[in-house]
Amino acid sequence: MYAIQPVFKERIWGGRRLEALFQFDLPEGQIGECWTASAHASGRTPFLDGPYQGKTLDELWSTDRTELFGDYLLDAFPLHVKLLDSSAYLSVQVHPNDEEARRLEGEPYGKNECWYILEATPDAEIILGHNLKTRDDLFRCAQEKDWHTSLRHQRVKKGEFYYIPSGTIHALGPGIVLLEIQQMSDRTYRLYDYDRLGDDGKPRELHVEKAIAVTTIPDEPWMNQLETIEKEGGVMTKLLQVPSFTIIRHDVTGRYVLRDHSVFRLLTVIEGEGEACQGEQHIHLQKGSQFFLPRHAGDFEMTGPVTFVTSEVFLN
Ligand code: ZN
Repeated sequence: MYAIQPVFKERIWGGRRLEALFQFDLPEGQIGECWTASAHASGRTPFLDGPYQGKTLDELWSTDRTELFGDYLLDAFPLHVKLLDSSAYLSVQVHPNDEEARRLEGEPYGKNECWYILEATPDAEIILGHNLKTRDDLFRCAQEKDWHTSLRHQRVKKGEFYYIPSGTIHALGPGIVLLEIQQMSDRTYRLYDYDRLGDDGKPRELHVEKAIAVTTIPDEPWMNQLETIEKEGGVMTKLLQVPSFTIIRHDVTGRYVLRDHSVFRLLTVIEGEGEACQGEQHIHLQKGSQFFLPRHAGDFEMTGPVTFVTSEVFLN
């Protein structure tokens, strides 16, 4: 189990809350995103220590895939994990699916994403889905900027989980800190950006035509079905299982064993503090820390109280 060093991203909608919440040493500016595990060319996260110190997930994916990850046939490392801090609305956006990403952008993955809400102000909301019937309706909506009545607004609370498959129109509102687990893609089609200006004083670029082409119409709201398993020393909750990834929350209250697994996992600590022990090895678990667990890494005995989320991908 190896720690990964995060990469921070300044965003016009970002803030400073990641500093106090996760004890990160943030660079200056409005930091909107902390990429805790990334193999993306826009910001790769290196291993902090151990035998792979300084290496990145994509490097190891090409050199040691079978040994560390599993016998995947996928072209590129599949996952991307972030912490987000919003102090303003993010653009109203949609992402392509795998087929569209390959065809339109020559990229290996589209973007299914999911959000685990870590903090939310009492009036915090997200935009998730729409109530339009046809692609023409969406085109008209984009021309007339009729976003308020056409999009679904949803209040959110700490601890809630949302799955946002590619093709779903969405936007994060202000006052939210969340954990985002997504496919390894940074491809966003912006439909609307509140007429905001970017750093260069010009409105940020929109991608209306592509956005309309990839949007799911009519909308297909996703129904959350959590599966909870009581274990010794804690509770395991399966938040999501779809072909792109499986997301599990682990609430550790006593001595909890994280079992050996046949494929790699990413582990993000979201609450509390604790330890992961294996033989002589004792690893400190702190809110905001990110780890990589190779396949067949053996059992780890976890103590808390600590809550962490693991993400993994089925062998294809
Ligand atoms: Zn998105």
